[in-house]
Amino acid sequence: MTRPHFALAVHGGAGTILKHRMTPEQEDAFHAGLCAALVAGHTVLADGGSALDAVTAAVVALEDDPRFNAGRGAVFNADGGHEMDAAVMDGCTRAAGAIAGVCGPRNPVLAARAVMERSGHVLLAGPGALRFCREQGLAFADDAYFFTEHRWQALLRERERLRLGLPEEDEADEARRHGTVGAVALDAHGHLAAATSTGGMTHKAPGRVGDSPVIGAGTWADDRDCAVSATGHGEWFIRHAVAHEIAARIRLAGQSLARAAHEVVVDELGPLGGSGGLVAVDRTGHIALPFNCAGMYRGFVREDGVPHTAIYAEAYRTG
Ligand code: ASP
Repeated sequence: MTRPHFALAVHGGAGTILKHRMTPEQEDAFHAGLCAALVAGHTVLADGGSALDAVTAAVVALEDDPRFNAGRGAVFNADGGHEMDAAVMDGCTRAAGAIAGVCGPRNPVLAARAVMERSGHVLLAGPGALRFCREQGLAFADDAYFFTEHRWQALLRERERLRLGLPEEDEADEARRHGTVGAVALDAHGHLAAATSTGGMTHKAPGRVGDSPVIGAGTWADDRDCAVSATGHGEWFIRHAVAHEIAARIRLAGQSLARAAHEVVVDELGPLGGSGGLVAVDRTGHIALPFNCAGMYRGFVREDGVPHTAIYAEAYRTG
């Protein structure tokens, strides 16, 4: 009997992630965080579970890790608050759910999933979204849970930079200003799913919504072509409908996943200044993890259960 074919890829954000600014211990911690997400998703897939459950489990693991800009480690907006965005999409049914600009639900990806499954809508935002989450009995966390010192310091530095009218502080600072987490999966039944969750960008304007909860921009899944979860400067990803653009090239132009993803992220967005990357998987299990900046926290796993993780343009670590 042939083994069921499945695949999962995750990311923990992209940007100016520079090796010389990271200690080996910090690198190890990021690899461990990515591995934990891969294990969480793989456990679901190996049990014959759905791609939707796998991406949800992987993103919950990343939201719970304060190193990543989503859930617990979300960045601060200009007012010193948090506004989180998240989305899920089921490639089997093309059902999608998303929330934007909320702070309270402990795992925003679970709120997005509740929107998909129980609201009759695709995207809920602001106070109405929070009320819906409470009515659905989702777990909430207080401000102390979402406070992380490194994100607070990043906000203070950004405020100071703007007060003094200085250019971007240094190249490493960009990495602290944004980030996102996401997962894509193909399950053993041939279904695709994607999930994305983010705190957005440090010092973003209150009310600003990024690409993550915009279906077709930062998140997409369709069993006919591929599943995509993006990270990067969201305004660019929205304007280029990045995730859907890749799916359309596969379905309508017959491109491979690798070619479509590379062309959109590296050849087109990169030169325009749309910094970022994405993870994607197609209906036959091919995986693509392109980025057009210095690094992207990323990883993938297949049936054998061996996690592969990387940060920069480098060989993947296994195990
Ligand atoms: N895409 C996210 C946003 O624009 C941020 C990121 O992934 O770095 O909200």
